[in-house]
Amino acid sequence: MFETLLLNFLFLLFPVLIYLIFFENRSRAYNKAALVLLSTVTMFLCLSTPIEMKLGFNFDLRYIPFIIVALYGGHKYVFPLYIVLNLYRFYIGGEGTFNSFLMSTVVFILVPLLHKKFIQYNTRERISCVVIINFINMGVYIILLSTYFETLTSEFWQIAFHAITTHIGMSIILMILIEQIIANLKNRERFLQSERLNVVSELSASVSHEIRNPLTVTSGFLQLLNKSKTITSDEKRYIQLSLQELNRAEQIVSDYLSFAKPQSENMVYSNFETETEYTKNLIIPYATMHQVDVQYSFNNHLNTRYDRNQLQQCLINLYKNGIEAMKEKGGGTLVINISEKKQSIIIQIRDTGIGMTKEEIARLGKPYFSTKEEGTGLGMLMVYSTINKVKGNIEVDSEKGKGTTFNITIPVTQ
Ligand code: ADP
Ligand code: MG
Repeated sequence: MFETLLLNFLFLLFPVLIYLIFFENRSRAYNKAALVLLSTVTMFLCLSTPIEMKLGFNFDLRYIPFIIVALYGGHKYVFPLYIVLNLYRFYIGGEGTFNSFLMSTVVFILVPLLHKKFIQYNTRERISCVVIINFINMGVYIILLSTYFETLTSEFWQIAFHAITTHIGMSIILMILIEQIIANLKNRERFLQSERLNVVSELSASVSHEIRNPLTVTSGFLQLLNKSKTITSDEKRYIQLSLQELNRAEQIVSDYLSFAKPQSENMVYSNFETETEYTKNLIIPYATMHQVDVQYSFNNHLNTRYDRNQLQQCLINLYKNGIEAMKEKGGGTLVINISEKKQSIIIQIRDTGIGMTKEEIARLGKPYFSTKEEGTGLGMLMVYSTINKVKGNIEVDSEKGKGTTFNITIPVTQ
């Protein structure tokens, strides 16, 4: 019995290992298909290698991959597993085929209903969730099984005990591994993003510094030239235009600089009220110009440390993007909502604009990504960099054509 147990453990580890070695670096859609296929194979192997007990009775671990895929993937991804499970079970046939069909159908319908909630849980809650569902599942199974026995002997209880502890033990180990892989992937992504930020901000700091000097000199001489009495009015107009364009260039350069500025200059310990009020008032004329209605609510008592200028710039960038997304739809509503939850400050910015596709969301915050004709693709980079510095987290929820919601969670520091 111990050998089969180990064998089953190996089967369960198989998708995790293969995934780690071969698939970790590929694109997401490809990964999901591979994971479902691997889990199907695992379930098949578990089914064909049941753990045999005395009394001629045996149980297998088919529901462990089944439940895990159902929770992480939902109905769509667990469907192949459901089909394979029942095809195989019908192929073996015998007593209990129909019961197995009923049970798997119930699990197939009910468990994926938790999928949406499940993926929002944190690691510990997810592990508990899998364990509890496995426990309930085995409980039901054992109750069904007890109807086959006339008297519940101690051997029956022994089987029940083994079945439940094996399921729980295996699912805990498996879940810890899966969650660790997910955490590693996320960490790497975060690390890459902060590397990108570093490169861009160092580069931009040095470049914009170098460019600012010639700009100032040129604009100084042009101003002098402008005062000359010997030039024609046409020439004066050209000079004026050049000065305007130089101003614009200078504006862009100072945007770069504000982005690259190190954190330390304007540190405050506060609750965001001043900054959110100020930036909201600043953006209202721009919103009105584009028929955008601004709804603002503030309800936060928690304080934290942050750079005032950077936070303001970050908020303006987010508001501007929201308004620009609605501009193309001829207006809409920008909802700004600051609240507190546990030990975090939540900033929610919601627009009813053009929204983004999944690919666009994934590229958000990468340098120079812009879908606008005059866009710089630096606004969101600055947003991510600022939120990164206060150890916050940005969650983007967007639907093409419907609108976008940014949920920013910032943990408070003492
Ligand atoms: P820019 O605004 O100069 O294009 P950003 O870094 O601010 O650069 O934004 C990058 C891109 O992200 C935008 O071009 C746009 O496609 C997308 N984006 C950002 N915010 C939103 C939003 N609220 N709604 C729709 N698309 C958005
Ligand atoms: Mg922008």
